[in-house]
Amino acid sequence: MNMVQWYFPETVDEAVALLGRERTIPHGGGTNLVKSGIASYSGVVDLARVPLNYLKTDRGILEIGANQTFASAAENLSNLYPGCILASALGSAASTPLRNRITMGGSASLFPLWSDLIGPMAVLEGEICTEGKNAGSFDLSTWLANRAVQKGTLITSLLFPDAFDWISAYYREVRVGFDYPAFTVSVLARKKGSRIERVRVALSGGADRVVRLTDLEEALNGADLSKVSSLDLRKMGTVRFGRKPAGSPEFLSEIAAVQVERCVKSALFREEETR
Ligand SMILES: Cc1cc2nc3c(=O)[nH]c(=O)nc-3n(C[C@H](O)[C@H](O)[C@H](O)COP(=O)(O)OP(=O)(O)OC[C@H]3O[C@@H](n4cnc5c(N)ncnc54)[C@H](O)[C@@H]3O)c2cc1C
Repeated sequence: MNMVQWYFPETVDEAVALLGRERTIPHGGGTNLVKSGIASYSGVVDLARVPLNYLKTDRGILEIGANQTFASAAENLSNLYPGCILASALGSAASTPLRNRITMGGSASLFPLWSDLIGPMAVLEGEICTEGKNAGSFDLSTWLANRAVQKGTLITSLLFPDAFDWISAYYREVRVGFDYPAFTVSVLARKKGSRIERVRVALSGGADRVVRLTDLEEALNGADLSKVSSLDLRKMGTVRFGRKPAGSPEFLSEIAAVQVERCVKSALFREEETR
């Protein structure tokens, strides 16, 4: 039987040194590792004691440490910045016991098809900060395009350079609350009077894990609100889907486009102060 050695480092440097060992991986909340099987590894580096459990803002830049769980990040954000899209997305993911375990680091390492982090990451244009073999900071597309970069590398935090003062809308397509979402829609908007200053829209869960709907964004950026009714938001919100338990590709594509339209209109026509 394969023996798995567990390590309990107390600093980032210790954790990174341990990750240099053969077939040794980090353990965040363990929610995926428990399912995927730890037995095939030689070593598991438990991150619980590494001081990466924080959420802070410095000169408008939000930084969330890799060890923050979805539950604590959602709670901290809803106290500090109510209306922040990350608070609604992370606070509605999975179930309460899972949100208490899933970490930002483990989530950003996997970015599963049902991720509630990936859409907000895409619209907030967040970065993944790492230490170890591939130390640095990565934007989402670079990170997703090159999974090999993760080998021997520790995610230390997620950075959001422009996370506040947006009106936001977040939607997850589920049959019951704790279901895996079939797709998610993330929308951010800034308005001045009836002028749309900026809109960002992302759809996750389709054939391309996450996409920014740039045609839709370009059509709306700088436009007057009165232009919205003349645009075919559904058409611009249509993306390809693969087959999923929640329905056929055609069905999912159709209902996702409907939800894109609803979320964009909800963000643009909401009568509330931006946060
Ligand atoms: C039943 C169920 C339902 C779920 N539903 C949702 C949902 O609705 N929405 C959602 O967003 N998620 C959901 N998840 C969570 C998701 O599927 C993953 O399990 C989760 O993202 C893993 O996070 P973790 O902290 O538990 O990571 P772990 O299981 O500890 O690790 C996962 C992977 O990340 C690596 N890793 C962990 N931490 C780091 C780090 N700091 N740096 C580098 N690599 C690291 C590990 O080595 C491993 O390869 C669900 C999970 C389950 C089991």
